[in-house]
Amino acid sequence: MTTDCIFCNIVNGNTDTIFLYEDNTLVVFKDINPHAPVHLLVVPKKHIRSINDIEPSDHAIVSALIGAGKNMASQTGIAASGYKLVFNVERGGGQMIFHLHLHLLGGWKR
Ligand code: 5GP
Ligand code: ZN
Repeated sequence: MTTDCIFCNIVNGNTDTIFLYEDNTLVVFKDINPHAPVHLLVVPKKHIRSINDIEPSDHAIVSALIGAGKNMASQTGIAASGYKLVFNVERGGGQMIFHLHLHLLGGWKR
């Protein structure tokens, strides 16, 4: 837990953010500034800065993020039409919140 980290505060329930899914490892909530009809964030409870910082012992967390992204794609009805799962890594990769998160984006009309 890093108290000045917005996503630590969200995953610890210190904000009014509604979780669409939660388990011991991660939470899922809507992006506040969506870039797609469906834009969810899959966020580990553990504070990890970015993909650059994952250790081998974190690989199960990363796997869980991807599995939750897949499940939420199905739950939100975009699995068949298709979607993106995106990790932005560091400033050059578009990362603005330095607490690891997976973007689930989809639901565009063809
Ligand atoms: P990044 O650019 O770091 O990969 O993505 C961070 C995402 O978090 C952005 O899409 C931004 O809209 C979203 N975001 C930032 N602050 C908040 C917040 O307080 N609540 C929610 N739900 N999303 C946020
Ligand atoms: Zn954090």
